[in-house]
Amino acid sequence: MPISILPFHQHAERAEFALQALRAGTRLARTVQRERVVQSAAKSDRSPVTVADYAVQAVVAGMLELQFPDERLMAEESSQALRAGSPVMASMVLDYVRSVMPEAQSSEIHRWLDLGCASGGPAYWVLDPVDGTKGFLRNDHYVVALAWIEAGQVILGGLGCPRLTPPGASGDCDASVVLAVRGEGAWITDLDGNRWQRMQVSRERRPEKARMLRSFEAGHTDEGLLDALARRLKCEAPPVRMDSQAKYARLALGEGELLFRLLSPARPDYCEKAWDQAAGSIVVEESGGRVTDLRGESLDFRRGRELTANLGVLASNGHLHAAALRALEALGANRRP
Ligand code: AMP
Ligand code: MG
Repeated sequence: MPISILPFHQHAERAEFALQALRAGTRLARTVQRERVVQSAAKSDRSPVTVADYAVQAVVAGMLELQFPDERLMAEESSQALRAGSPVMASMVLDYVRSVMPEAQSSEIHRWLDLGCASGGPAYWVLDPVDGTKGFLRNDHYVVALAWIEAGQVILGGLGCPRLTPPGASGDCDASVVLAVRGEGAWITDLDGNRWQRMQVSRERRPEKARMLRSFEAGHTDEGLLDALARRLKCEAPPVRMDSQAKYARLALGEGELLFRLLSPARPDYCEKAWDQAAGSIVVEESGGRVTDLRGESLDFRRGRELTANLGVLASNGHLHAAALRALEALGANRRP
């Protein structure tokens, strides 16, 4: 049975803030996508950034400053590339931010963006304003991801999922918000309503029945190795290819059992970013699943903006975790090339 109030007793104030911020950010990103503002630029690491990435980060950081002015934020974007980039893009960002915060000025937007420069500390928020930017540009899956970390542990995490329909929702509701608080479960509701349902991973124990969730972008993983893992585990179901941490939400809903983030052969030095894993990992754990790196180590969020102590990620429904780790070891996928 869905419940209509926010289902958390601990961290209720932060959970309420995360919900408001995720709703505002997700609505804004959807508007940008609907209006087909596909203006994008390449950052110094050649990854794309869009009007939505900047606008959502500025709005969430601005909301955070109002609500919790002393709390730190680690977020993916900074004002540097926006200031150095095209004036057309900067003016679109200003317009979209003003659609939520009418008084905003460019200088304020730059300042809000740069609030996200934290690289760690005893407690901080972590934000990926548009996770799966390549999916966003393809009109496909992406999420807004926000988490709260204390002493290196994710305590609260949420995903705004513009293309994930909550279980049992009517056909016209295609967006959801997911929120998880440590010890209090992971919950999902439709983006605009308050019909909270508890999320629960699948009970599947047979590797051959495991459904693999994997990146849509071949360059973010090792497709050959993923195929070899599927063969070794004798997975019969075709893999589900999706962008972003929406995959973690699908796993948490019991709509998949295994999610491997393998190293791309083109980027053997790659370290996972904190904002790509923090919210998704607590959502899976609080749904009864398990998240480690490819060697079975816990994700270590004490290392700053990147998870430098870890190698890739394995998320599962828990029951299949040991079998997946054994397969990774057998194929040598638990070592950096
Ligand atoms: P996904 O949509 O699951 O493929 O993941 C999207 C995230 O992958 C982006 O937010 C990027 O930060 C991250 N990413 C970019 N390049 C790589 C790479 N070579 N290996 C793993 N992840 C990457
Ligand atoms: Mg991301």
